[in-house]
Amino acid sequence: MSLNRRNFLRISATAGAGALFLNPAESLASAKAGEALKIPTRKLGKTGLELPILSMGVMRADNPSVLRAAYNSGIVHFDTAHGYQNGKNEEMVGNFLTGKPRDSFIVATKCKARYPFSENFEKEYSEMMDTSLKRLQMDHVDIFYAHALDKVEEVKDPRLLAVLAKFKEEGKTRFIGFSTHANKPEQIDAAIDAGIYDVILISYNFKLKQLKETEEAIARGVKAGIGFVAMKTMTGGTEDAEGKKKIDAGACLKWVWQNENFTTIIPGFSNYDELDECLAAVADPKLNDKERKYIAALCNEELLYCVNCRKCVADCVEHLPIPDMMRAYMYNYGYRHPSLSKDTLMELSLSDKLCTSCNSCSVTCTEGFDVKQKIASITRLVNVPDEFLV
Ligand code: SF4
Ligand code: SF4
Repeated sequence: MSLNRRNFLRISATAGAGALFLNPAESLASAKAGEALKIPTRKLGKTGLELPILSMGVMRADNPSVLRAAYNSGIVHFDTAHGYQNGKNEEMVGNFLTGKPRDSFIVATKCKARYPFSENFEKEYSEMMDTSLKRLQMDHVDIFYAHALDKVEEVKDPRLLAVLAKFKEEGKTRFIGFSTHANKPEQIDAAIDAGIYDVILISYNFKLKQLKETEEAIARGVKAGIGFVAMKTMTGGTEDAEGKKKIDAGACLKWVWQNENFTTIIPGFSNYDELDECLAAVADPKLNDKERKYIAALCNEELLYCVNCRKCVADCVEHLPIPDMMRAYMYNYGYRHPSLSKDTLMELSLSDKLCTSCNSCSVTCTEGFDVKQKIASITRLVNVPDEFLV
């Protein structure tokens, strides 16, 4: 990458701090996706959308200037969720996008429903969708995901399919999909069979255990017209819980871009430096030998990322939702986002006396995690008042 290019990216990313080079209303008003910085684009399944390969997962961001810098840099796809920051994340996205040409951005949100669904699921889920639209100050989103489906049955549940189809018919969303951390190839096949899903947002990185099977299922999904968006691509952001060894974000992104079945990635950058790293990667998106070796070495290391193999769930005498708890651990110690970690734990409705029935832990984690220690460490968060958390 040339010095000029690097400088341009840095200036562009930090424009939100004051030195605006581009008027956001003008920069993309007449531009197609990705033209501001010539970010390569890929088609999103049968949706007809063509998205830059770099998007923004807004989850951790709480500074609208970072969104502005991303937008000015050619990023057009912003991914939020009903639950992020207790709704403040959607409100921030809505405030930022209000007044911008509707065809200059793509917004995705997600709502989570407890499974099995309650008697009032349809009514409650519709109300959540309406609340999200109100917070976003929009009459429709571009992509609506059923959030974090972990079971194959959820993907094909007729009640979920009916309510998603209704959202689309009512014009509340242009496209429908689901997100998953479970990474089961069977979920993708279930989505193909269901026939209504346009997009799947899926965890994808070099640590996945069933990588080959997952990639084959993704290829089947693409053939069926489903678009794929990648998340959790940086395996936790840091290698260690102390945050001393940061993961090379660029290498992780480039590893994912190798798979052309993924249209785009939604890295959760929350400051200008992290955005700069992503922009530097997109300016030179091919994985080089050094980065390839770095990724290969990381494959054999214990990181903060739980690969969701679910072996521990059967091993645990209390059948605890350990993969979700490990995700909460990663949000706190990797992403440095305790409120997101607490929200994730609260959704699990955990008992206040965990692991009390065991003298020694019967779980052997495939990633080498000391599961009992991590559970004890992270669950302290549920007792911390929200006002002390960021
Ligand atoms: S100590 Fe281990 S086996 Fe026992 S409940 Fe905790 S995680 Fe499960
Ligand atoms: S065994 Fe380890 S890696 Fe696998 S799901 Fe459980 S915590 Fe995650």
